[in-house]
Amino acid sequence: MIRYKCAHCGVELETDDLLSGKQEPCPDCGKVNVVPLSKHDLAKQKTEQKAKQKEKLQQERLREEAEQRKQALDAQHAAEERGRLAKEEQLGMTSTEEALGIIAGIYIILGVLGAVILIGVAAHYEQPLYGLGALMVLATSVLWAVLFFAAQCVLQYLRRITNVIEGGK
Ligand SMILES: [Zn+2]
Repeated sequence: MIRYKCAHCGVELETDDLLSGKQEPCPDCGKVNVVPLSKHDLAKQKTEQKAKQKEKLQQERLREEAEQRKQALDAQHAAEERGRLAKEEQLGMTSTEEALGIIAGIYIILGVLGAVILIGVAAHYEQPLYGLGALMVLATSVLWAVLFFAAQCVLQYLRRITNVIEGGK
């Protein structure tokens, strides 16, 4: 039996377990009450709720595990990518270094060209002073080329040291 009070007139009521959770008119005031759950139904409801909660927790845990696996994989990929980039950078040249090398090459070509032209002019006009000028042009251009090559080497060296330090982290 289920015992409860009428929500409208407050009279004590008693009804069969079969009416658990259903609607029933109060025999005293005639207004309709929702009958409380029987002990059996209450226990059943609690068990169902517990099972549902357990399932929900399990699903959450599975989701978390999947998320952690994904994050670990992402981190691994990122580390691999970083390693690949560092290696590439160590092997190849940056655009600045390439530009310095090209400028050095251009200086040598221009110096040799200038010297050849000046020597030609010196021979044509029989002016040995132009030959001295050719030597100076050649020397100046070689000096600049050496400076640019040196700058390129210093940059590369610094980059390698930085890579080694970062790679050791
Ligand atoms: Zn009543």
